[in-house]
Amino acid sequence: MSPPLRNVSVMLRRSIALALLGVIALTACASAPQKGQRVRIVHTNDLHGHVERAAAVAAVAAQQRREEPNTLFLDGGDCISGTPLSTIFQGRPIFEIMSAMGYDAAAVGNHEYDHGWELIEEFRELATFPLLCANARDPEGKLLADKEYAIFETGGVRVGVIGLITAGVPSLTQKKCSEGCSFEDPIVAARRLVPQVRKLADVIVLLTHCGVQTDAAIAGAVEGIDLIVGGHSHTELKTALNVNGTRIVQAKSYFERVGIIDFAWDPETRKITDFTSRLVTIDADTMANDPTVKELVDTWEEKVDAQVAEVIGASSGLGKKQLRTRIEHIYKELLDCDCGYQNMGGIRAVIASGDIRIRDVWTVLPFDNTLVKLTLPGNKLHAYARKQLGDRFDPNAEYTIATNSYVSDQQEKYFKVTDAKVEDTGLLMRDEVVKWVRKNAGFKPKTGSATSPERGAGPNEKR
Ligand SMILES: [Zn+2]
Repeated sequence: MSPPLRNVSVMLRRSIALALLGVIALTACASAPQKGQRVRIVHTNDLHGHVERAAAVAAVAAQQRREEPNTLFLDGGDCISGTPLSTIFQGRPIFEIMSAMGYDAAAVGNHEYDHGWELIEEFRELATFPLLCANARDPEGKLLADKEYAIFETGGVRVGVIGLITAGVPSLTQKKCSEGCSFEDPIVAARRLVPQVRKLADVIVLLTHCGVQTDAAIAGAVEGIDLIVGGHSHTELKTALNVNGTRIVQAKSYFERVGIIDFAWDPETRKITDFTSRLVTIDADTMANDPTVKELVDTWEEKVDAQVAEVIGASSGLGKKQLRTRIEHIYKELLDCDCGYQNMGGIRAVIASGDIRIRDVWTVLPFDNTLVKLTLPGNKLHAYARKQLGDRFDPNAEYTIATNSYVSDQQEKYFKVTDAKVEDTGLLMRDEVVKWVRKNAGFKPKTGSATSPERGAGPNEKR
């Protein structure tokens, strides 16, 4: 398949960018700078793998660019995690699809760490546009994004776009996903970078994944920011906020909205004027779809169907509590432990009677947690786990518990301990459950081994 024209032009733009060391010429036919040069910004955020509307969003962006060639297309991060397509292929197709959509730059969101910070490098390679983030570094202290900022020259106006992420990443993902990485306070990073980029650009845009409250705090604390294109809080800002002269926008989530900003830049006052912002509601069924993006999305979704349609067993119907018991049994058997523990909050669906498909197990266990063996003294065992041991329980003995990495990370909440011995298998619990169900043609445990109670009361929890 020959690459679509847009991809060629994106690649061309990227090579020009490299040649000019960070300065990207957006339009070859840009007219000479004039008073009140117009700039348009099209923006999205927090798509979380919901590419079912990608072709419609791409069509909107292309239409805006046809009307106003001096257009930048930006995304505020959290591109991955939320659909089987994203999870099965660890977010990779999302960056391929976004490249076909013609983005000029994206921020890095906390969910981009969901499969480990190391994968962000692969996302950078897949994306034909730069991933921008000035305040996140890997364990060696290297920038995790392509660069801190990019300067886009459009119609003679130099637009400096600085990427920022929430400093709360370590508490928003499993610990190992950002282990050793460092996150600078976004306000401190903005204070450092805005004056620096100001020397190279006429207009300063922060492309952030910090949430609207932090965006307002940055705008209040740092002078000289014209615009903040945000994400993370999934906020639907129908019109831009104005904090300390800085406009703040955000376009909900999941590609349900696309934001469109127009302004003029006055070279005499060196200020932006005539600022307007609006959100467009995306309805993929009634709106134009970009055929290239549509085809790419369909090709990927066919691969998802092929992966999750397989029948691996049968069931006469299982409720969440029954599933919990069965899953705990599977954990216990797989890791050869004394008992199994599955948090109720991690079971997100029931199994209907009839065939069990891989898709059903994915829906029950949507989170990418791994199987973990915990070793605990008997007196620290949760009463629920003690019941599984029955007569064998001895408060002075040590016990092994097979559980998932979320429970292990939150062991204080579940077992009131902080120092349980943790052995993480690195195996995705959902994959292992799928294999077990396929081998046993269902969730049914072997005779005599269902020792855990059907109606155990774990701690109340939310995720
Ligand atoms: Zn987020």
